[in-house]
Amino acid sequence: MRILPLCLLALAMTANAQSHDPAPPSGRTALVIHGGAGFVPKESLSAADQKEIRETLGRALDAGNSVLRSGGAAIDAVEASIRVLEESPRFNAGKGAVFNAKGGHELDAAIMEGHTRRAGAVAGVTTVRSPIRLARAVMEHSPHVMLAGAGAEAFADTQKDIERVPNSWFDTPMRRRQLEEAQRKEATQKTAVIAGDDGNVRRYLGTVGAVALDRAGHIAAGTSTGGMTNKRWGRIGDSPIIGAGTWADERCGVSGTGWGEYYIRANAARDICARVEYRGDSLEAAANEVINKVIPAMGGDGGAIALDRDGNIAMPFNSGSMFRAWVRPDGSRGVAIHED
Ligand code: ASP
Repeated sequence: MRILPLCLLALAMTANAQSHDPAPPSGRTALVIHGGAGFVPKESLSAADQKEIRETLGRALDAGNSVLRSGGAAIDAVEASIRVLEESPRFNAGKGAVFNAKGGHELDAAIMEGHTRRAGAVAGVTTVRSPIRLARAVMEHSPHVMLAGAGAEAFADTQKDIERVPNSWFDTPMRRRQLEEAQRKEATQKTAVIAGDDGNVRRYLGTVGAVALDRAGHIAAGTSTGGMTNKRWGRIGDSPIIGAGTWADERCGVSGTGWGEYYIRANAARDICARVEYRGDSLEAAANEVINKVIPAMGGDGGAIALDRDGNIAMPFNSGSMFRAWVRPDGSRGVAIHED
């Protein structure tokens, strides 16, 4: 008589542990990354460029995915993927960041963990090799969410594992050409030109981001960028602003890319997840509505990657192209640039 209740208790505890364990079966992880949205006609990217971009996206996906597949946390996967892209001169984040109007680089990044709602962000940093790493340090080792400029650099000085580089380390010839082109155009047309605005063709490509779902069912999102070419006056875009370019909560995560001023005013990343939360919209419908209706109706453009706790992935963009790669819960994966 005394054994039976104990057995029942043990059974109940096992059942309880299972029913309260949010861990989806192994393999139910998901990851989506982007390397920026923009207006890049197919013919303007050589086969070699495309190959290199796809390979780098694939490596970034592998870096994050191996964290997830080995049972690691979504936040670690996001950081792992973004760090690969920050190190590549191909993307407008870390090495390869665009130039500001003074010929230097000011980098922005944010990271957010959905189930805890912890977040960290840095804006206008100039010597931090991996801005996403510093954003995470803000989240984990400071009482604040967002640090900017000299203050962020001073905080970086207090952190052991934050690698520093001279600002010129971020230089690349391609970004220098884009700055020169923007400034030439500005001089002729006498109005401000940002983002390498080239007549009808705006090219934003290169901001990077990642959103991950781990085995515990937790979501994290992150974004890292050099911002927009020829920016001035300490301009800060949407990427490091929680809710604008980066957001994660218990059910949804987003990283945006595009004309940041519009993403800030639309509170774009949070708006996508709020539609999922309040209206019960599917992730796909919510992301499409914000990227293909709300932002363009305001006059902006760009794209976003989004992921929900069921591992659904949405990757809408209204800019003709968005570098992106994904791996779904069933293990299927892809890399794409245009509508393909
Ligand atoms: N959203 C970024 C910014 O405005 C740029 C981009 O995504 O390409 O700084």
